[in-house]
Amino acid sequence: MSKLNMSFEPYEIWFLTGSQHLYGPETLAQVATQSRAIAQQLGVSADIPVRVVWKPVLTEADEIRRIMTEANTEDAVIGLIAWMHTFSPAKMWIVGLDALRKPLLHFHTQANVELPWSEIDFDFMNLNQAAHGDREFGYIQARLGVVRTTVVGHVTNPAVTSRIGTWMRAAAGWAVTRSLKLARFGDNMRFVAVTEGDKTEAELRFGVQVNTWSVNELAIAVNTARRGDVDALVAEYEDLYDVVPELRRGGERHQSLRDGAAIELGLRSFLEEGGFGAFTTSFEDLGALTQLPGLAVQRLMAEGYGFGAEGDWKTAILVRAANIMGAGLPGGASLMEDYTYDLTPGDERILGAHMLEVSPALTSRRPTLEVHPLRIGGKDDPVRLVFTADPGPAVVVSLSDLRDRFRLVVHVVDVVEPAALLPKLPVGRAVWKPLPDFTTAVTAWLEAGAAHHTVMSTAVGLGAFEDFARMARTELLVIDKDTTLRAFRRELDWNAAYYRLARGV
Ligand code: MN
Repeated sequence: MSKLNMSFEPYEIWFLTGSQHLYGPETLAQVATQSRAIAQQLGVSADIPVRVVWKPVLTEADEIRRIMTEANTEDAVIGLIAWMHTFSPAKMWIVGLDALRKPLLHFHTQANVELPWSEIDFDFMNLNQAAHGDREFGYIQARLGVVRTTVVGHVTNPAVTSRIGTWMRAAAGWAVTRSLKLARFGDNMRFVAVTEGDKTEAELRFGVQVNTWSVNELAIAVNTARRGDVDALVAEYEDLYDVVPELRRGGERHQSLRDGAAIELGLRSFLEEGGFGAFTTSFEDLGALTQLPGLAVQRLMAEGYGFGAEGDWKTAILVRAANIMGAGLPGGASLMEDYTYDLTPGDERILGAHMLEVSPALTSRRPTLEVHPLRIGGKDDPVRLVFTADPGPAVVVSLSDLRDRFRLVVHVVDVVEPAALLPKLPVGRAVWKPLPDFTTAVTAWLEAGAAHHTVMSTAVGLGAFEDFARMARTELLVIDKDTTLRAFRRELDWNAAYYRLARGV
């Protein structure tokens, strides 16, 4: 039995400092004092979500190899920051870097902001030489092909701490993905291609365990939900949402709400008992369930679970990763599906939704809780939360399996208010404008083979997904304000060649 983790509390980032013995013990003591101060300043920044743990200055190859292998085996360590305060001859880093399996951030910084021009002597130069010490380190990382993120600047610069904070969020997303257990109830929707994928390869590339359970095992958990627990959950719904009268206690369709609450209780207990962080459902395979899970899925996604509809486990991975990456930030993450367009020239917008399963984390407004027929799945009318996503910047991200590799596509968008109220649309939804413009964005999306299912994140943006893709060594294509079709198509061609070569024989 394990509750879903939605905090950075279990994690730490180790702060490593490189030097050598050439300068004598006095200088090394100063290096230690200054690097400890930088790590401490970093750790207390409001941009930094994960605990920063300073480690003693490294001056020998054996120490470096040992600390890298220690970082590999400590589950709490989700990444390393390395700074060459002085000059640390980089051959001593080769074996350690070669062994490292955790995300690495090369922090190119120095202790002081301004130079004390009139005071500079050669002792100062010996102590404050990251400008070339880090170049030596950059060389060996490039030579070894070490996957890393490089951040340049002083720790007092908000752009620097913000950049490092984003990388830490990506590292947490990666750590969660590496240990994610995903439960599928039923298979993928019949005949659909893009939601398919190689689950064995996914476990190798991302570490995710994707396995299937009969939906009737879930139905058993739903049927064992206790009456008192259903009562309490229904009361919680009435407290949190504008519940339509027909669903309220005494309303003619109150039983539908109780059935929805039982589905939530059963689903939650199934996920907690199995230690699952993500799941999928299929409207084609509902077994003894009375309704397609809607409300329950929406609420579990808002709590941090990953979810994909129609058996789409790849999108479920993204929703879970985006949820943890955005923990504590305004906004949220949700399954999203490109549905239909407003093609008004020059003002094109995309209306996204799903048949039920959109997370209310996308809205700061109070959702309504409603029941409507669903002409799909052949079960009782499902209960669902209805709302419109808050306007603001967002990304939609898809994961496709191209057979020889996985491809992430990130599209940067602006969520906007709908042109009018949508009184007849009985689902959670978002309306967005694609960047750089509708034609370029959608053409690029189609030519990249990106899916109709995505995760929409309004909490973390492009930067976190760029770092995540790098950590996962997975292809990433970006559609944003700078995208041109000519360059995008070249990138598709080049990537096809690059990833084939990078695989080896
Ligand atoms: Mn769908």
